[in-house]
Amino acid sequence: MHVFSIPMRTRFRGITVREGVLLRGDAGWGEWSPFLEYDADVSRPWLACAREAADVGWPEPLRDAVPVNVTVPATDPERAHAIVRAGGCRTAKVKVAEPGQSLADDVARLEAVRDALGPGGLVRVDANGAWDVDGAVRAIAALDRAAGGLEYVEQPVASVEDLAVVRRRVDVPIAADESIRRAEDPYRVRDLEAADIAVLKVQPLGGVRACLRIAEDIGLPVVVSSALETSVGIAAGVALAAALPELHHACGLATVQLLTDDVVTDRLLPVDGTLPVGRPRVDPASLDRLAATPDREAHWRARMDAVRKDLPA
Ligand SMILES: [Mg+2]
Repeated sequence: MHVFSIPMRTRFRGITVREGVLLRGDAGWGEWSPFLEYDADVSRPWLACAREAADVGWPEPLRDAVPVNVTVPATDPERAHAIVRAGGCRTAKVKVAEPGQSLADDVARLEAVRDALGPGGLVRVDANGAWDVDGAVRAIAALDRAAGGLEYVEQPVASVEDLAVVRRRVDVPIAADESIRRAEDPYRVRDLEAADIAVLKVQPLGGVRACLRIAEDIGLPVVVSSALETSVGIAAGVALAAALPELHHACGLATVQLLTDDVVTDRLLPVDGTLPVGRPRVDPASLDRLAATPDREAHWRARMDAVRKDLPA
């Protein structure tokens, strides 16, 4: 059990350092990195994902590369344009509805992104649940025009009930992200017909096989996204995307560049808009360099003990 601590390039999701545990088993390395505020119950499926990676390995892939999106933060149009150009991806995910910014800021950013991608690229937006229903309906119409057509809108409103209402009032497809955090959530999204697309993350939902079952049960197109893992954890998300019978959308797995460093020799960075399927090689020197301090290691050992306590033998 190796506890790592890696500074983020910029603050993301309110954190500046990413911590977690790498486990090694017969099949290879697994990552367990539930966010610090998660209790033992919430963190348990995250451990199932790490154990699957380390002890069992993943189902046979159906493709050898997975298309991914470039992520554009809520930045000014010039920087947004440059990020898309540098990303080399055919799909851009643009953050919108940032506190302190206006709809005009989002419109200007989307126009810049469309210009950088060209007419053939796909543009999706992510509001992280920030709008109310009427605000979402208004904003989606304006952003759909600015982008020359949106692929989908991710989590325009916070609650799954409101998501269902917005979905009935707009033509742009709706994706559920924050509405899917525990294994039972995707079924609620399906039953309320709240989304056209489900964003699935392998750690919170208990691993690759668990996500494949969910995808089959809910019958919605899936976008696989990361939980800000190192390349070891991202490889599990790539394994899910590679094993899905159908993959219609680029995935949100190009996130290791948000970390300043990594635990592998070949980081999972996109090349020509795709990530390769397979396992990156863990680098012992990197594990040493990125080892957490003894007090943080003790913290993670205590978390691990709490999660394991109630596991069936
Ligand atoms: Mg999202």
